[in-house]
Amino acid sequence: MTDKPLPATIAATAAGHTNTATGGVVSAIETATTFVRDADYRLPASGDIYRRDNNQTVREAEAVIAALEGGSEAVLFPSGIAALAAAMRVHAGGHVAVQRGAYYGTERLASELVTDPARLHFFDAGDLAGLEAVCAAHRPGLVAIETPSNPLLTVISIEAAAAIVHRHGGILMVDSTAATPIHTRPRALGADIVVHSATKALNGHSDVLAGVLVAGSERRETFEAAKASRALTGAMVSPFDAWLLTRGMRTLALRAMAMSRSALHIAHVLDAHPKVTRVHYPGLPTHPGHAVAAAQMEGGFGGLLSFEVENAAAALAVAGRVSLIKRATSLGGVESMIEHRASIEPAHRAIPPGLLRLSVGIEAVDDLVADLAQALA
Ligand SMILES: *Cc1c(COP(=O)(O)O)cnc(C)c1O
Repeated sequence: MTDKPLPATIAATAAGHTNTATGGVVSAIETATTFVRDADYRLPASGDIYRRDNNQTVREAEAVIAALEGGSEAVLFPSGIAALAAAMRVHAGGHVAVQRGAYYGTERLASELVTDPARLHFFDAGDLAGLEAVCAAHRPGLVAIETPSNPLLTVISIEAAAAIVHRHGGILMVDSTAATPIHTRPRALGADIVVHSATKALNGHSDVLAGVLVAGSERRETFEAAKASRALTGAMVSPFDAWLLTRGMRTLALRAMAMSRSALHIAHVLDAHPKVTRVHYPGLPTHPGHAVAAAQMEGGFGGLLSFEVENAAAALAVAGRVSLIKRATSLGGVESMIEHRASIEPAHRAIPPGLLRLSVGIEAVDDLVADLAQALA
């Protein structure tokens, strides 16, 4: 074994957690909401008091994610949005900057929490000069980026963004949901907080709603405040969801690699298809963020891609004709899903009307290609 276990090993072994009470190779689910003190009123060895604060099953999932992200500490929330909200709320009284076209929920959350619209700023992923200008003019306390972004797959250099944000005294939060810790480790590139919707590829089986914040190595105040707010606001994940998440993550490396491999293949097939006008996938050499993605991602470009057909009617017809791929929102599951985002996002988001987002699962890639081919025919 290497000095530090590699991600596939961390995930497969649940970072070493077993059931030490019985010898079971898998941990038990700690369901208790409260914990017994001894006659001298001392806490049990776990240190636990009440489940709203913490719980062994939640700690185990957090330990796996922290290790996958390269150390530090992770804190789980009941959804990705709850994790984003906990971090954003810390800075809601000051200036906040958000990457344009980031996950719609992130943008909506920012507009809701940062009550003065004059304190909420946007910049484009591909425009570092624009980020520099926003930071110089407003010195935002928090800058939120997302790479690759959902649903347009824009790419931003985490390292370059971190340098800019830090020069102006801000905190850089990176939503790495689409990349997964298998393909990108934002902490090593300068992120102060990494966020994942664990609902997506981390769990991977479309049966858990959860989110997580991971602390960077320096500038931990925002992370600490967000972590403290979890117990304060009762935003605690259920132990069953945490346990399922740990179980799902055992196969994360295999799933992420398979999804990326299939997504790249499908992106090339779609790119060559006469009915497809544009493919958004950072693994394609023609993607404007390809060089940056190739430098900051390893082992693949993720399982998420988008493609455009002529117009909304054509896109809805394609979505209506797929039979293996599921018409559903969400991404990162073992089952492939297709979604017409313009149908569910408001007009100001300017989602191309003919755009279909495709989350590539782990089905046989030839079956996925055949399903798309017949739907596009
Ligand atoms: C889904 C998603 C979220 C929100 O996570 P939930 O678990 O659905 O609350 C945040 N960021 C990205 C990039 C996502 O895809």
